[in-house]
Order: sequence, then C-alpha cells, then structure tokens
Amino acid sequence: MCDCIEQIQNKIKNNFSKRHPESNTKEAKLQNLYFDTEDHWVVKPYMPLKVEYESKTKKGTIQNKHEIVNMQVRYCPFCGKSYKEKGECK
Ligand SMILES: [Zn+2]
Repeated sequence: MCDCIEQIQNKIKNNFSKRHPESNTKEAKLQNLYFDTEDHWVVKPYMPLKVEYESKTKKGTIQNKHEIVNMQVRYCPFCGKSYKEKGECK
C-alpha cells in the first residue's frame, strides 16, 4: 500500500514549521479521510459531492433542495495507483 497520505501530511507539517518557526506545529491532517472497513481498515480519501435539484411539494410549488453524497476513490489521488482489495497499491 502506498503511504502518500502520511507523506503529504508530513511534508505539509514540515513546510508549515519552516514558514512559521515561531509556532510549535503539532500536526497537519488531511480532511475527508475514512477507514474503509471492507478493505482492512485502510485510510482512504473521499470527496463530498453536492447535488442540487428542484422538488415539487404537495401543493405544487417548486423547492430547491440539495444532498451531499460522499464519493469514494478507487485510485490514490496523489500517486494514481489503484487501491487493491487488500489495501495495497498495484
Ligand atoms: Zn499513493
């Protein structure tokens, strides 16, 4: 399995520390990560997707609505390698 997420977080933390030496940088964590319980609890990113639509009420008026859907990725967004079934990049 690739370790892109960990590498990116470490690079961002180190870069931030260099730019702000006066501060004590504790950690840099990517957001939108989840544990894939069907793939040995591998940490993978996801992308929230907003779907906007019109819905007709019982009175016949139109309401604007939206739903947030989380899209899972099949490939690492950093190195482009496929996430294999057992949490390894091909
Ligand atoms: Zn990767």
